[in-house]
Amino acid sequence: MVPNLLVLGGTTEAAALCRELAAAGIGGTVSLAGRVARPAPQALPQRVGGFGGVDGLIAHLRDNCVTHVIDATHPFAVQMSRNAVAACARAGVPLIALTRAPWEAGPGDRWQHVPDIAGAVDALDRPALRVMLAVGRMHLAAFAVHPRHFYLLRLVDPPEALPDLPDRHVVVDRGPFDIAGDTALLRRHRIDLVVSKNAGGEGASAKIAAARALGLPVLMIDRPALPQRSETHDPGEVLRWLGHAGADLGV
Ligand code: NAP
Repeated sequence: MVPNLLVLGGTTEAAALCRELAAAGIGGTVSLAGRVARPAPQALPQRVGGFGGVDGLIAHLRDNCVTHVIDATHPFAVQMSRNAVAACARAGVPLIALTRAPWEAGPGDRWQHVPDIAGAVDALDRPALRVMLAVGRMHLAAFAVHPRHFYLLRLVDPPEALPDLPDRHVVVDRGPFDIAGDTALLRRHRIDLVVSKNAGGEGASAKIAAARALGLPVLMIDRPALPQRSETHDPGEVLRWLGHAGADLGV
């Protein structure tokens, strides 16, 4: 059977995987949600926009004769990942997730763990602070209940509309970021606290290392729970899996 992959993307890891797949001559499509105005160029043909829930994804898999699904979405893209597990099970299409290992606190880190965005909002119920809020555009509104804090926001696209955070500064930058640059950014804005999702990977880790270097606390939003699925952090493992798709990696 000639593989015809569906890669659920929207991450640097997905883009890198698509380059490897294209270089290996493996065909397929990468799917983007359409949240970013100017997505990075992709090495596989791309489609953009939601599928329409589990049923829509099943229809897409059938209509396009998809042979394998690789979920390389962000670890916080929970809905898409849950839909992929449910749709692949029902359609009988093998699925693997390519994810980033979560960051682990090390010496010098001052992390307070919270389970989700709501937990981060609750933890900010304290006197005024200068906060770097690195949670993505979609979740900013939840923090409007604490208008007394200064918020440093870093966004991929120039914002069209922002929630009511009266004391804020927006930096538009899609990275890549480095420790020196993020240390300077935190210093320049006299940040007291960094709020971050535990995204894992290299791309977003500079702010965490910068907080460590400056002795700043981090409110770390832990990974959401996902259903059982085959999962790897290694793109090479995905290529091997394609050689015998459906085998349980036991990870
Ligand atoms: P989400 O909450 O899990 O997904 C909500 C809905 O958006 C899904 O049910 C699906 O719509 C659609 N969708 C999500 N990812 C899609 C994809 N790759 N292709 C087609 N449709 C997709 O997702 P999210 O957290 O908003 O993330 C959206 C995208 O941004 C993902 O591709 C993710 O990799 C990327 N991203 C997310 C974060 C983050 O922190 N969440 C950070 C960086 C990048 P239907 O139900 O209609 O199919």
